[in-house]
Amino acid sequence: MKEIRATFLDRIDRTETVSSFRFLPKEPVDFCAGQFLQVIFDQGNRTNKSLNKYLSFSCRPGKGFIELTKRKSDSDFCKKLLDLKKEDEVLLKGPMGTCVFDKAFEKIAFLIGGIGITPVTSMLEHIVYNNLPVDAAVVYSNLQENDIPFKGEFDLWREKENIRVIYTIVEENPQNKDYFKGVITADLVSSQIPDFKDRIFFISGPPKMVEAMRTICQGLGCDMNKVKTENFIGY
Ligand SMILES: Cc1cc2nc3c(=O)[nH]c(=O)nc-3n(C[C@H](O)[C@H](O)[C@H](O)COP(=O)(O)OP(=O)(O)OC[C@H]3O[C@@H](n4cnc5c(N)ncnc54)[C@H](O)[C@@H]3O)c2cc1C
Repeated sequence: MKEIRATFLDRIDRTETVSSFRFLPKEPVDFCAGQFLQVIFDQGNRTNKSLNKYLSFSCRPGKGFIELTKRKSDSDFCKKLLDLKKEDEVLLKGPMGTCVFDKAFEKIAFLIGGIGITPVTSMLEHIVYNNLPVDAAVVYSNLQENDIPFKGEFDLWREKENIRVIYTIVEENPQNKDYFKGVITADLVSSQIPDFKDRIFFISGPPKMVEAMRTICQGLGCDMNKVKTENFIGY
């Protein structure tokens, strides 16, 4: 883990509530798909939890820039991100985290709600870009159909034979008949991923979501050594 000086490149609004922020590091940064880093806005007080926060990489390694994606809020941290101007210098620290993709994995599955999708985006982009022979199934739950971060990317990736994306919408009846209605349940997982016992599971996102998805895996009798989790503490 090291300190990374980077300049702000640009912002991409993914949905009304989620934006990505791209940075150009002064030196290349080696990271594994699934890792995260810390954005440090208060360099004088490194323990300032409201201005120094963790965000996952939302792009594959080796792109030359770093992309981080944030569910927007009116916090001081988020305001600082949104106020960044091109060329502004930012201090980052990382990479960190062991909930990462390994190319030895042949069959994987993701149980994800909303912003927990960021590390998955990094992993799937990595798999597709490198043409890795990995069978991936993503169960991706969102509150509303018009607020699905990275939907364009996932729709492209799911055209590949080895990638399946199963969307569920919680708050409304989805217009798209291909989507399921409701939260992720054990029934949904077992019916959509019948070979779930053969897969490595990745679960990331707000702690309550992670706990709920772990409980589903436990209930289904998954080998819990094959269930990898990343808690987005702070939600
Ligand atoms: C390993 C790791 C990876 C992470 N990766 C990501 C990532 O990729 N993207 C991402 O967006 N986040 C990620 N997080 C979480 C991130 O670090 C922040 O904690 C999170 O984004 C919330 O930041 P904020 O500034 O919006 O917080 P806050 O303003 O503190 O808000 C957090 C949420 O809680 C609500 N809230 C705040 N205070 C209260 C209150 N008193 N009562 C009720 N609700 C309240 C806010 O409305 C908001 O929805 C990650 C965290 C970890 C530990």
